[in-house]
Amino acid sequence: MKYWSQTFIPTLKESPADAEIASHKLLLRAGLVRKLGGGLYTFMPAGLRVVQKISQLCREEMDREGAIELSMPFIHPVENWVDGPRWAAAREIMYRVDHAGSGKGRAKEPEFVLGPTHEEVITPLVKSEITSYRDLPRNFYQIGTKFRNEIRPRYGLMRAREFIMKDAYSFDVDDAGAIKSYNRMKRAYTAFFTRCGLKTIAVEADTGVMGGSFSHEFMVPAPVGDDDIVYCEESGYSANREKATSGLVPKDLADAAPAGALEEFATPGVVTIAALAAAPYDVAGDRQFKTLVYMGDGKPFLVVLRGCDDLEEAKLGALGFQLWRPATPEEIEPVMGAKPGSLGTVKGTIRNPGALAGIFADHAVRLVGNGTTGANKDGFHLRNVNVSRDLEITKFGDFRTVRAGEPDPKSGRPLQIARAIEVGHVFKLGTKYSEKFGAVYTDDQKQSHPMVMGCYGIGISRTLQAVVEQSNDADGILWPWQVAPWQVLVVNLDPADAAATALCLKLAQIAESAGADVLIDDRAERPGVKFKDADLIGLPLRLTVGGRGLKEGIFEFKWRAAKEVRKVAITEAESAVTDAVRAAAAKA
Ligand code: ATP
Ligand code: MG
Repeated sequence: MKYWSQTFIPTLKESPADAEIASHKLLLRAGLVRKLGGGLYTFMPAGLRVVQKISQLCREEMDREGAIELSMPFIHPVENWVDGPRWAAAREIMYRVDHAGSGKGRAKEPEFVLGPTHEEVITPLVKSEITSYRDLPRNFYQIGTKFRNEIRPRYGLMRAREFIMKDAYSFDVDDAGAIKSYNRMKRAYTAFFTRCGLKTIAVEADTGVMGGSFSHEFMVPAPVGDDDIVYCEESGYSANREKATSGLVPKDLADAAPAGALEEFATPGVVTIAALAAAPYDVAGDRQFKTLVYMGDGKPFLVVLRGCDDLEEAKLGALGFQLWRPATPEEIEPVMGAKPGSLGTVKGTIRNPGALAGIFADHAVRLVGNGTTGANKDGFHLRNVNVSRDLEITKFGDFRTVRAGEPDPKSGRPLQIARAIEVGHVFKLGTKYSEKFGAVYTDDQKQSHPMVMGCYGIGISRTLQAVVEQSNDADGILWPWQVAPWQVLVVNLDPADAAATALCLKLAQIAESAGADVLIDDRAERPGVKFKDADLIGLPLRLTVGGRGLKEGIFEFKWRAAKEVRKVAITEAESAVTDAVRAAAAKA
């Protein structure tokens, strides 16, 4: 047990101005964290206790599924990353520890980087330690600090520059084994988040460039989330918007018959879908083709969508580029022969088609039939464009963003979209890292194979804040039992009174023997202040001692989540407190 006066819980009446969302405000107001700088936070004593509790729950669930804990360095030699498969993309988010020497001979690359995750460290480690199928499968995990140079750190612990993650990495002899490891981690995650008192849904997620792999994200539905999840309650379909598909385009859709000859017409000053949709042209967005120019690993490529659709950039990952970004107007004109706003892919109209790495069209483009597109000549468009007759297309694919109300790919019922916070991620990686680093094993025939890997992350500090975001009211936090910094708060209204102090100690001892962590508020504060703070820091059970009640032989018993205050006779303390603690622990 702990006395409030002997720990440090600096509660605040007002929340600092830069805290935007409920959980961020409450973390600050309840004295759980303090800000050092953008995305950098100190865990104050009570906050640290929650981190430790969440970490311990995570550890127990990982251990239960056979994962083995270790701890790797935070600082990585840059070579591990340069030699790995994702240096080009990952260097953007990594903090670099620059060459410490004088200006002379300063290395172009940093010598060390701060680890954003640890595939580049664990894979070489396993390569040197495990060589035989007899030592597989293995799953290693750690709980530690990660560093990411986030473009926009925000919402406190939600998107920080330095944060706590549990990361695990599985190594199997084959795909079937890797899927088993993956499913064990999925089960561990479900159990872990449930024990944290957090409602999550596992959604299918984007896997970027990693072919032959799959992934689920664990999402907490919340309006302040950074992700969109697309789901259908009836069919159970759920996916991150980056990955979601719909049944909008029938699989066997045939092209509309050409309505007439291709025809060029002048559209002076018209460079947007909206302008072409307005009078005098009146070409609705779903009758237009939108042509976007991107750069993939330094080469331009085109994406064709319906005018009314949006590109889901993450889906370009399926094209196999390491890095991609929108092309600049300077890069576009020499290739296309026109500026953005007049672009198209009608055969023969692209100035330098040989420069292109490909022309990729979304499936929904085939819904357009006879449409309108830019002529690759500033101020001109073409009408009566027929997809198969007129358009230059290398490959069709799924590139558009799904909208709410579109038919679910499974059941055909309308899809819904909601905001959510990603708290965990399971990923079947395949052999991308093991091949790159040579993490191979020999089978019983002395044949050598790359290990099949998975990686699995949980944002421990983000989970902490997600719990607060999901579990609060106007007065403060409502900690779920298992992750509360302490589970029982004993409030002493008369700390100067020996009888009150003795009863507080007795109640604390009873609660502790029943298995609870106890905090005793022994501060010489007014009752009003103590009750406000009690609600704010949100410990699940409050026992109040002192004042008239003590003279009458009672103390007060109140659950943070309930309205009513029960008066309990001191003679009943033992059974009342023991039963309450045991019941709460059993429910959690
Ligand atoms: P996001 O899409 O939110 O940027 P991510 O996909 O980059 O996350 P992973 O690399 O999958 O994240 O990391 C595993 C987990 O680490 C995430 O599920 C999330 O809970 C947590 N996490 C990632 N980035 C941050 C961050 N900047 N601050 C706090 N937690 C984070
Ligand atoms: Mg992720």
